[in-house]
Amino acid sequence: MGTLESLTWFRRFLDETPGDSEVGGRARQVPQACWSRVEPTPAPNPELLLSSSEMATRLDLDTLDAIVLGGGKVTAGMDPYAQRYGGHQFGNWAGQLGDGRAITLGEVQLSNEVLELQLKGAGSTPYSRFADGKAVLRSSIREFLCSEAMHHLGVPTTRALSLVSTGEMVLRDMMYDGNQAHEPGAVVCRVAPSFIRFGSFQIHSAMGDIPTLKSLLEHTVNHHFPGHDVANDAGRVKWLSHVAEQTALMISHWMRVGFVHGVMNTDNMSIHGLTIDYGPYGWLEDYNPGWTPNTTDLRTRRYRYGQQPQIGAWNVARLLEAMVPLMDEPELLHDVLEGYTNAYSTFQNEMWASKLGLDEFRSDDETLVRDLNELLQRVETDMTLFFRLLSSIQEPSVRPLSDAFYDTSTIPTDEWNAWLSAWWERVNSEPDRDAMLSSNPKYVLRNWMAQLAIDAAESGDVSICEELYTLLKNPYDEQVEFEEKWFQKRPEWARHKIGCSMLSCSS
Ligand code: AMP
Ligand code: MG
Repeated sequence: MGTLESLTWFRRFLDETPGDSEVGGRARQVPQACWSRVEPTPAPNPELLLSSSEMATRLDLDTLDAIVLGGGKVTAGMDPYAQRYGGHQFGNWAGQLGDGRAITLGEVQLSNEVLELQLKGAGSTPYSRFADGKAVLRSSIREFLCSEAMHHLGVPTTRALSLVSTGEMVLRDMMYDGNQAHEPGAVVCRVAPSFIRFGSFQIHSAMGDIPTLKSLLEHTVNHHFPGHDVANDAGRVKWLSHVAEQTALMISHWMRVGFVHGVMNTDNMSIHGLTIDYGPYGWLEDYNPGWTPNTTDLRTRRYRYGQQPQIGAWNVARLLEAMVPLMDEPELLHDVLEGYTNAYSTFQNEMWASKLGLDEFRSDDETLVRDLNELLQRVETDMTLFFRLLSSIQEPSVRPLSDAFYDTSTIPTDEWNAWLSAWWERVNSEPDRDAMLSSNPKYVLRNWMAQLAIDAAESGDVSICEELYTLLKNPYDEQVEFEEKWFQKRPEWARHKIGCSMLSCSS
């Protein structure tokens, strides 16, 4: 066990892909590069507010230095850089984006894996465009708690190591309505095998820079996808099919737990199929497939809960387009998209089988699922409570589920009892409860829960953050001591509150 300084640092991404000849500097276009070297901006008064002991152990760290994790010191072996990438934002090609408020410290070699450590909010880079490269406490708490919660829910995700408050106030227009205010700044250190995105490939392809595209592809596959070889079309299709499948798997987990990412732009799609870039995400409270947490998305609801699987396919298609210049026979790429659709369908069936405690998913179960989806939307019904209560139901009656409904006087009782009877018959009165209890979480990071933690932390009290962190490490356990507080529907005060029902990208 040691410190960040005693880790074995690597710089393979810098060594193996082309980069910017200039260090740091103003916001600008950086052609023919995968990265720019930058220096993090030191936090004036760094304080460690939250940390993941699990991640620290995985990295073999027994002390976490708030100065380093607040961007204040680059220790031996680190070689900080910002990654250059592009992306489609809300369906439109946006050109160069890149790490505008993230700086990678370096890659660390562990006994059986390599992990990249990245500071989010440690100051500007050539990719900061019009913004300052900093992050506020509110969005940092949301990233720290949610990425850790997702991991413990079994959803593929980047992780968080630390959250450091910077001691600096940052100016933000939280709802993009002209009301600027100073908010406390913070830096999250996040961790993943890499932060390479679909957009990392797109930018080079869009610019016609095929040599850079090729070297990024080779670097990515050589280091992160052992067993794959992209020397020919067949190998490229196989690897892309794998990426597409991992993406489908990730999204099926989002659907299972009621997570809405909110900004599924192609620059926010990890090549590893990890949930990445926690911004204006949200959790379904009432089961509304049309819900999006992101105010920027309210007009078209492109990133609504129910459309996430299709957007996953759209994003995979953009990645495939980016690969066309490397293919001898580009038409082979169609198989990858079909593979995504088939994989998603398989994962979705498995998801419903486990959520409903079925022995397996049969084709005639589709009616059961369709009727359930229809009924869940009939009146305001809490998704998490519903499936959790269903997991321990003893008779096919809606009564024991009544806590899941916002207004018990409106429950369509007869229809529910009919559906429950059909389900009960299907499972021979013996649903697979173990499967249900490990598929239907009892606790998720509802928006109002995160908001309570943020409000307290902004006035100097991180105890709610810590309590939620403890709670969310075991989301499938009963934890009866927390039930009254956190196994609850959205309280009325949160219905229209900013941060609970509405979120913006401002962070
Ligand atoms: P997002 O929608 O949060 O994934 O961000 C899209 C792009 O804007 C990325 O390139 C970010 O790095 C950049 N960006 C977002 N917020 C900031 C900020 N506060 N400072 C600089 N760049 C930012
Ligand atoms: Mg992003």
